[in-house]
Amino acid sequence: AMRHLPYFCRGEVVKGFGRGSKELGIPTANFSEQVVESFPPDISTGIYYGWACVGNGDVHKMVLSIGWNPFYRNTKKSVETHIIHTFKEDFYGEILSIVIVGYIRPEKNFDSLEALISAIQEDIEEAKRQLDLPEHLKLKEDNFFHLPEGKIVNNH
Ligand code: ADP
Ligand code: MG
Repeated sequence: AMRHLPYFCRGEVVKGFGRGSKELGIPTANFSEQVVESFPPDISTGIYYGWACVGNGDVHKMVLSIGWNPFYRNTKKSVETHIIHTFKEDFYGEILSIVIVGYIRPEKNFDSLEALISAIQEDIEEAKRQLDLPEHLKLKEDNFFHLPEGKIVNNH
C-alpha cells in the first residue's frame, strides 16, 4: 500500500453523490473521473491520511478514501478527501491539492451507519496523530503546495 507514497495530486473538485455530508456529517471532496484515472492502477484501495489545500489556501490534515465504497455498493471507483477543517462554504470547482502520506486500513463493510461513522472518526484521530510526526509534518511545507495558480499537475 505504501509503494506509491508520498503521492502528490492536484485536480478539480466535482459533484459526487451527495452522500458524504448529507448522510454522515463528513463531507468528502471528490476528484473528477479524469484525475481518478491518472492514479496508479495498482494503488491499494482503502483509507489514507495526508495533507490537503484548496486553491492557494492553508494546508490542512486530511483523510482520503480510494476505491469502491462497499457500504453503498458503488459501481464506480472514487477518490474522496475529507479535509480536517471547517470551511465556511463549499468549494466545488476549485483546485484541490493533496499529498497522500500514509495508509490507515483497507475498505470494510459496516453493519450500520453508526459503525461506519465511528470507524471514520477513528480514522480521523489516527490521521491527526500520524501527521504530527516530524517526518510527516515536513510534507505540509512541501513546495507542491506553493506552486503558481492555474496549473493542474498530477503527481508532480
Ligand atoms: P459530494 O457527493 O458532491 O462529494 P459531499 O456530501 O461529499 O458531496 O460534500 C462534499 C463537498 O463539501 C465538497 O466538494 C466541498 O465543496 C464541501 N466541503 C465542505 N467542507 C469540507 C471538508 N472539510 N472536506 C471536504 N469537503 C468539504
Ligand atoms: Mg463526496
